[in-house]
Amino acid sequence: MIPVTKPFLPDMQAYHAYMGSIWERQWLTNNGPLVNELELKLKSYLGLEHLLFVSNGTIALQMAIRALELTGEIITTPFSFVATTNSIIWEGCKPVFTDIDAETFNIDPAKIEAAITPRTSAILATHVYGNPCDIDAIQNIADRHNLKVIYDAAHCFGTKFRGRSVFSYGDISITSFHATKLFHTTEGGAVFTNDPDLLKKLSLLRNFGHNGTEDFASLGINGKNSEFHAAMGLCNLQHVDEILDKRRLLSFYYWRKLAELPLKYPKLNADLDYNYAYFPVLFDSRELMLKCLKSLENEKIYCRRYFYPALHTLAHVEAGRLPVCESVAERILCLPMYHSLTSSDLDLITRIIHRVRNYEMDSQETRPLTVGAGNLEALSEDIF
Ligand SMILES: *Cc1c(COP(=O)(O)O)cnc(C)c1O
Repeated sequence: MIPVTKPFLPDMQAYHAYMGSIWERQWLTNNGPLVNELELKLKSYLGLEHLLFVSNGTIALQMAIRALELTGEIITTPFSFVATTNSIIWEGCKPVFTDIDAETFNIDPAKIEAAITPRTSAILATHVYGNPCDIDAIQNIADRHNLKVIYDAAHCFGTKFRGRSVFSYGDISITSFHATKLFHTTEGGAVFTNDPDLLKKLSLLRNFGHNGTEDFASLGINGKNSEFHAAMGLCNLQHVDEILDKRRLLSFYYWRKLAELPLKYPKLNADLDYNYAYFPVLFDSRELMLKCLKSLENEKIYCRRYFYPALHTLAHVEAGRLPVCESVAERILCLPMYHSLTSSDLDLITRIIHRVRNYEMDSQETRPLTVGAGNLEALSEDIF
């Protein structure tokens, strides 16, 4: 069985050593020493001055919206995980969807301005698959209209834009350390800001608004995370460079194997150190994508339709048609991507996609077969 992703698990002895220290201290949560250590090591790894480790990426989004005191309408992307939209609604604001760019699948800045009204307070955009949005264009619009910017950077661990962690952009960025993400703490997430006052506010929000034991300085929530989760993060952080390297190799191997097929991939931003978090493939039709999905499932290979359905089509939101997003959401498929995949796994996956594709082309007699078995053999040397 090949799932779309597998959580990375560190050496059990290393995790046990941290458990031993937790048992000794009997300090399980509430800003414990392992949480502090993880925050320090993450800041150093990411090259950031400020961050807070929180319970998950969704609460991080909610805390970001609260901390910036957003009200009214928030312009957002329809092409993301459902938590992006839900956190806006959960915080009593209205998501206003604008269409995505057909090449990058990120929110299209050219469409944002037309959606701004006197009630707009912010832009909440997702760096889809770890590939940064057009950050300059978005900041420019925000500055001209006095809007805040939040980035959902849940896919972005390890991505750098212009040599800096992508988490350092926007008024607040958030990420997720969920088990399915490339760096994880089982459940977890983080909020990032360059503004020390905003950080202070986020830190109060994370802990019930508690400022000392008897001072409830403001409204707050429980956004804390535990020593057990921090221990998983401390173990995994030691392997994150290996994980990033492996994903890069896997991505290049996929691209090479699929090179002769008319598939599309998101166009990567310039000035990027990319984390290769996912391997999304855009098919030329929904039918072909579904056939590949089904043929792969027959071989117990499970892909995911990230992101389908498009968020503006959810029953609990109101929105008009967004043709680019609808078209991409119908045809996109994320192929398996995780650290322990091998080149023979990828040979199998890509061979099935070739087979479906060639059969289709054959039966429609629109084009000659582009790939023969001989060609595949030549590409199949083991690179890891
Ligand atoms: C995973 C994810 C989230 C939610 O993170 P959790 O830690 O699971 O709450 C939010 N946005 C995007 C784009 C995600 O992929």
